Amino acid sequence: MNKKIKIVNKKKFAVACLIFLIMIILLSKLLSLIINSASGHALMDNVALAADKNGSITLEENEFYKKYTIDCKKSIEKLNYDEKNDLIEVSVMKDAIDNVNIKSSSKVQGKDVTYDKNENRIILKFNKQFKENNYIYIDNADKKKIIVLLSKKEKPYNHVAVLDPGHGGVDKGTNLKNIYEKDLTNKIVNYAEKELIFKGCKIIKTRYEDKWVDLKEIGNITNKANAEAFISVHINSNKESKYKGVASYYYFNDKGEQKDERMALAKTMQKEILKSDNWYDRGIIKDRLAVLRYSNVPAVLLECGFLSNEEDRDKLSKEEVLKNFGNNICNGLLNYLNSDKNKGIDYYNKSKTDMSRDKTATADDK
Ligand SMILES: [Zn+2]
Repeated sequence: MNKKIKIVNKKKFAVACLIFLIMIILLSKLLSLIINSASGHALMDNVALAADKNGSITLEENEFYKKYTIDCKKSIEKLNYDEKNDLIEVSVMKDAIDNVNIKSSSKVQGKDVTYDKNENRIILKFNKQFKENNYIYIDNADKKKIIVLLSKKEKPYNHVAVLDPGHGGVDKGTNLKNIYEKDLTNKIVNYAEKELIFKGCKIIKTRYEDKWVDLKEIGNITNKANAEAFISVHINSNKESKYKGVASYYYFNDKGEQKDERMALAKTMQKEILKSDNWYDRGIIKDRLAVLRYSNVPAVLLECGFLSNEEDRDKLSKEEVLKNFGNNICNGLLNYLNSDKNKGIDYYNKSKTDMSRDKTATADDK
């Protein structure tokens, strides 16, 4: 009898031990989960974005790109992101985004985007369709917006153009107090570049940093780029503060090579840059400027207002105005590239051309 009881007790003891062990394991798992969450490890992994009319992320799409705009509640000073082979990870503070969903009333889902969330941060993961030609940046006119461009094609462009932010490095261009032409031209070109990329135009810039580039070298960059057009952006100034407004400079040689194209480009650009902020119209002006002469492809030089004029200077000090220039340059260039260039474009009232030829206000030698 005694023996039998002993055996039964042993079995019970073993079962009890096993249950105890399992409980210990479960408890330790639970404990580690609590510790991890407190120390900020991920609690939610790869949650797909849903459609939500109050979502903070908007999706705009065309044949070239998916453009995601992340609306943040406060200005983003530094972009926190990591670009990998197959995705772009953007990390923002949890309290910076109201609603981590796609702003939409329909039932579409942001299948390319998922997110992880931890105690402090949201990590948005944008899946790339193609390795190259994806972009992420802060909108400089509205620092609360982060833009992610996801390429939808191996080569997401139909056109190629060269943009030249006038001056750079030691060559500051014209300046007034602490406003430098080279900074304004760089900003305008960057706004134009981003819009053009989204709308299917590959952009080559003559400088990607604040450095001086020789005029001849600018011509070489353009002629090597296999581009369809060249646009140089400048800001004007004059000893007399009364001069104001915008003008588009073009040039064709004595043989009249590319005459129609070059005039059409200038007309189209001038028409577009006048579309915002009430700029005074100085018209299109033929001038033997070096950058226009060196370019083998249709070229235009835009003088975007006068720093020496108070009214123009006030406008140029607004980021929104510089962005409008960028958008208008984008639209003008695309209008030109998509038009029948050889026929010229009668967008623009020709009488303006002569009216604005006051020698005192021509562009400095570019
Ligand atoms: Zn200049």
